[in-house]
Amino acid sequence: MNHVAKFTGLPEGVREFGFYVGGSWHAAGDRPQSVRSSPGHGVPVTRIALCDVADLDVAIEVARAAFRSRAWSGASGAERATILLAIASGIRARLDELAYWETLETGKPITQSRAEMADAAGHYEYAAGVSRTLHGDSFNNLGDDMFGVVTREPVGVVGVITPWNFPFIVLAERLPYILAAGNSVVIKPSELTSATTLILAEIVAESGLPAGIYNVVTGLGESIGQAMAEHPGIDMISFTGSSRVGEKVMVAAARNFKKVALELGGKNPQIVFADADLEDAADGVVFGLCHNAGQCCVSGSRLIVEEKIAERFEALLVEKFSRVRTGDCLDPATQFGAIVSDAHLQKILGYIRSGQEEGARLVCGGGELAIGNGRYVAPTLLADVKNSMQVARDEIFGPVLSLITFQDFDEALELANDSPYGLAASIWTKDIDKGIRAMRGVQAGRTWVNTTIAGGPEQAIGGFKQSGLGRETGVLGVEEYTEVKSVHIALGKRKHWVE
Ligand code: NAD
Repeated sequence: MNHVAKFTGLPEGVREFGFYVGGSWHAAGDRPQSVRSSPGHGVPVTRIALCDVADLDVAIEVARAAFRSRAWSGASGAERATILLAIASGIRARLDELAYWETLETGKPITQSRAEMADAAGHYEYAAGVSRTLHGDSFNNLGDDMFGVVTREPVGVVGVITPWNFPFIVLAERLPYILAAGNSVVIKPSELTSATTLILAEIVAESGLPAGIYNVVTGLGESIGQAMAEHPGIDMISFTGSSRVGEKVMVAAARNFKKVALELGGKNPQIVFADADLEDAADGVVFGLCHNAGQCCVSGSRLIVEEKIAERFEALLVEKFSRVRTGDCLDPATQFGAIVSDAHLQKILGYIRSGQEEGARLVCGGGELAIGNGRYVAPTLLADVKNSMQVARDEIFGPVLSLITFQDFDEALELANDSPYGLAASIWTKDIDKGIRAMRGVQAGRTWVNTTIAGGPEQAIGGFKQSGLGRETGVLGVEEYTEVKSVHIALGKRKHWVE
């Protein structure tokens, strides 16, 4: 079967994956398997093994043994950097293949997948640098009889659970940082989109990373995901997904006090002041909603617009939404992707109906788009929304924009912060004082002024309130996966306590 010769049209057959533990591939054998259909085409594309808790136990034991061997935890920052750079090169060398399978499993446009793969490689390159600069602190101010140092050590075995919407880039925002700190990992990707995490195992195998440091078990969240969160052999859990499941993970992790990093959902405000460049703001709002067809944790789905320009802005949005290029997600011209599952499509349509029942006005979109055998929802604008309505409170996770108006600065901030979430926010204004005051006032871990969904490895990301705990990427993203040890070293003869 030809899986790798082209990366353009649909594959000639279903690509089957085993799972990867201890530097070896394991076939599904008599385990149940799960077949993934492409959301953009409705044809089966991949098949993965549904591992059980016994498989997870083995992977964790292997990861623990690899950690104890110190082959990686004892490697120098320079050695770790070399391997992380090799992984980055491997990603760049297989970028078209990775992007192709990412698009087939997620339904995102191929151009977006390619950009995500290139960005992912950048995270491995950046983390390589941090692995060489990672350090603790020293205290030479404790008097002549004492010297203090603070060291950073890897935590141990980190369990990584990832979502379906950004399988490869979300992993890239965690894995290289976890590895840079010297940890071992057991990864459980989403059962819907495991392919690129498994292809990465081939790249990792060629990079020289010692066997047993990178392990992938595939399967269901309720079984092996939950078991990973509970497992005493996991020292830290890094979970990215919904706030509903994040809560379960935190409760499970509390039983043995393992460290947790949680990156969860959002209902992110886009505040548009009347003095903004409205063309730029409308373009940003349309991009912020259509990116990944709204199935994006930082999707700018709550539009908070100054009343006096609301009508004009609404017209600008409708015009721009009509020009978003839809089509086959494997076509490089396509900008707008498919919806992950039938159940999710129905959920999105249900929200559009409930919004109208609560009094919102449907301005554009509102239904499905017919593109081949794929599953698509048209970019949808609901106006006259109140912040108390369900469509303004829940993370719909689809291309549905709720437009709410405000009269003055204080009301804009009040509306923006009136949400259980605090993941991201965008502010559009040409008044620098107003922009900075709004940036200071908004409760969001990622805040953009006159742009949206901008990012990169340099700056740490994470959420306020129910959007998460801890930070990923940047220098903090490596420090997050370390334990800090405070050391006092006495010099000279001890002054005895027992006289
Ligand atoms: P989800 O919470 O349903 O699943 C996420 C992962 O958790 C999957 O791998 C799933 O198999 C696993 N899982 C399910 N039940 C589990 C359990 N009981 N214990 C442990 N693991 C379990 O989320 P999803 O639908 O895959 O992804 C969408 C959600 O992810 C959205 O809420 C989105 O906002 C969020 N997300 C957040 C970020 C961020 O950086 N903040 C990034 C991407 C996605």
